[in-house]
Amino acid sequence: NMREADGYAPMVSDFESLWSRRLYGRISDCFNRPITGVAGAYVTLVDRVSKDHNRTFNFTGTTTRTLNLASYNYLGFAQNSGPCADSVELALREQGISQASPRAEAGQTRHLLETEELVAHFVGTEAAMLVSMGYATNSLTIPALVGKGCLIISDELNHSSIVSGARLSGATISVFKHNDVNDLEALLRRSISQGQPRTHRPWKKILVIIEGIYSMEGQFGRLPEIVALKRRYKFYLFVDEAHSIGAIGPRGRGVCDLFAVDPREIDILMGTFTKSFGAAGGYIAGSKALIDYLKLHAFSSVYAESMSVPVMRQVWSSMRIIMGEDRQNALEGQERLEQLAINSRYFFTRLREMGFIVMGDPGSPIIPLLLCNPSKIPAFSRECLRRKISVVVVSYPATPIITGRVRFCISASHSLEDLEYALEQIDEIGELLMLKLAPRQKVDG
Ligand code: PMP
Repeated sequence: NMREADGYAPMVSDFESLWSRRLYGRISDCFNRPITGVAGAYVTLVDRVSKDHNRTFNFTGTTTRTLNLASYNYLGFAQNSGPCADSVELALREQGISQASPRAEAGQTRHLLETEELVAHFVGTEAAMLVSMGYATNSLTIPALVGKGCLIISDELNHSSIVSGARLSGATISVFKHNDVNDLEALLRRSISQGQPRTHRPWKKILVIIEGIYSMEGQFGRLPEIVALKRRYKFYLFVDEAHSIGAIGPRGRGVCDLFAVDPREIDILMGTFTKSFGAAGGYIAGSKALIDYLKLHAFSSVYAESMSVPVMRQVWSSMRIIMGEDRQNALEGQERLEQLAINSRYFFTRLREMGFIVMGDPGSPIIPLLLCNPSKIPAFSRECLRRKISVVVVSYPATPIITGRVRFCISASHSLEDLEYALEQIDEIGELLMLKLAPRQKVDG
C-alpha cells in the first residue's frame, strides 16, 4: 500500500470479520444481485454483469424472473404504468429532473407547495415539509428540533437514520427496551426531577422517538399507550412512519389511523415515500409553527436540493389514488389497501399454522420468520432463489446473532396464487432446513 508507505493511516480497513466473510461467501441468492426492470410483484435478477471498454455494463449471465417478496412495494405503486406514470412523464417533460437549488434559494416550485399541502391533508396535520431523501428526513431534521441540554429517548430498535440524527443533534440519548412502555415510563421517571413530574427539568426538552412499524420486527409501535404517557410526562413525540404510512389503517393513513389516535396529538410525524408510494424522499408533518420553523432551520431543507418534480408527481398521484380523489380511479386506493391487509394477514396466519416462528403483529406487511441458526440464513435465501422467489435475509449486525431472520414484504400486487405458491415453497424449505417449531407430521394410510 503506497499511501501507508508514505506514512498515511489506512483510509479503509482491510479487516473483514470472519462472520461476514463466511456468510457472504456462501450466499448465492437475490442479495446484491443486479435487477432489471421494475421491482413489482415480480422482479428479474441477473447473475452476472460485465463492463466493456465503453463503460457499458452488460448482463451476460442468466436472468431469473422471481416472485418479489423483497421490495417495500406495499401498495404496488412501484409499477411504472397507469395514471402515476403519466403524471410523472408529463412533469419530467415540463420541469425536468432537478431544480438545481434548495427550496430557500430557487427550488420552491408550485408542485412542492401543492404536494406538501396534500401530504398534510393526508396525514391529518396543519402542515408538512418535503425532504428529497428519506434517510436525511430523520438525520438532518432531528438536529433542528433538539440539541445540547435536551434528552432524546429512543426505542432500541429505531432505524439508523434516527440514530444518526440523534447523535448529530448533540442531545443526550437514552434508549428504552423495544416497544416496552413500562421501561419507557421508568426511564421517564428517572429522567424527570423528583417531585416535579410535570416539568422537564433538568432537560430543556424531552423528545421520545418511535416507529409506526419496526422494519426488522414487523411490530406496530405502541402508539396509544405512549400518547397516554405523553399527556402525563409532557414530552414531545416523534413517530417515524416510513413503513406504516400508506400501508396500514382503514384509510392507509398509518398508525394513527390504525389505532384511532388523533394525528394532532403527535408533535412530529415523519414518513417516507420509498415504500407505499413507489417514489423517493420523505416528509415531516406537524403544526404550522413547527413546519415554518423547520423550513428555515433544518439542514434537510436549507442546505439540500428540493425534491425533484417528477418524484413529487409520483407521490401526489399515488396519494390521491389512495385517498379516492382521483375521479377515474375512485375505488382503486381502497381496493389496494384492502388487498394488502388481506394478503398480509393471510400470509402471517398460514406461516404460523405451518409451525414457523413468525414475528410481528398480524396485519403488518413486513413478516419476519426466524431462522436463528446462522448457517440456515444463506441456505434459506438460496433455496428461495432456486424456487424463483426473492427474499431479504437479515442477520448480525442488523439483528442479534442468534435471531437472524428472513423478512417477507407483502404487496397488494401479489395475487392469491402468488402467495399460495410462495407458502407452498416456504413450507418445503422449512421441512428441509428443520425450521419449524412443530414439524409437519406425515400421517400414514
Ligand atoms: N426510517 C425507517 C424506519 C426506515 O426503515 C428507512 C429505510 N428503510 C428510512 C427511515 C429511510 O428511508 P429511505 O430509504 O427512504 O431513505
